[in-house]
Amino acid sequence: MDLKSFIRDIDDFPQQGVTFKDIIPLLLDANAMRKTSKMLFDMIGETKIDKVIGMESRGFFFAPLLADKLNAGFVPVRKPGKLPFEKISHAYGLEYGTDILEMHTDSILRGEKVLIHDDVLATGGTAAAVCKLVEQLGGEIVQCNFLIELEFLKGREKLSDYNVRSLLKY
Ligand code: 5GP
Repeated sequence: MDLKSFIRDIDDFPQQGVTFKDIIPLLLDANAMRKTSKMLFDMIGETKIDKVIGMESRGFFFAPLLADKLNAGFVPVRKPGKLPFEKISHAYGLEYGTDILEMHTDSILRGEKVLIHDDVLATGGTAAAVCKLVEQLGGEIVQCNFLIELEFLKGREKLSDYNVRSLLKY
């Protein structure tokens, strides 16, 4: 099964000049969804993971599935104003615009092993911001794990201190 056949290109979304990789067709297909979560899991290796982080909102599709397979907790990282408890935040630049990400201060205990997952690695700004949040709480980043890597945007360079793995490269 070619997982790339379930990824749809949308021109000029969310703004002019950006070609957006739409992963929803992959979510709609039971076999593609199952194969994707298995392959993302197989990239992780043997290290014990305590927490899997998913970025709002498309990181939320697979991160909890990986957490379940890893017997780890799931940590939601969210956009500003969504989290109810005490939080830390970090500003970052996106492929299109800028934003802030937040995480609850009790999400990660000092020394815990952390897997970061998101659907797409584009410029790397989002994942780099999440790495900062994790390190602020004393977590140890085992891997940054992505469904899709847009290699031409060189996001990997922003994550050069980390173990970066992606399933589908463009
Ligand atoms: P970055 O910070 O690496 O530039 O952008 C990555 C973030 O933007 C991810 O959270 C991802 O969900 C979103 N993103 C950027 N480009 C795309 C895209 O083409 N398709 C999808 N599905 N998400 C994207």
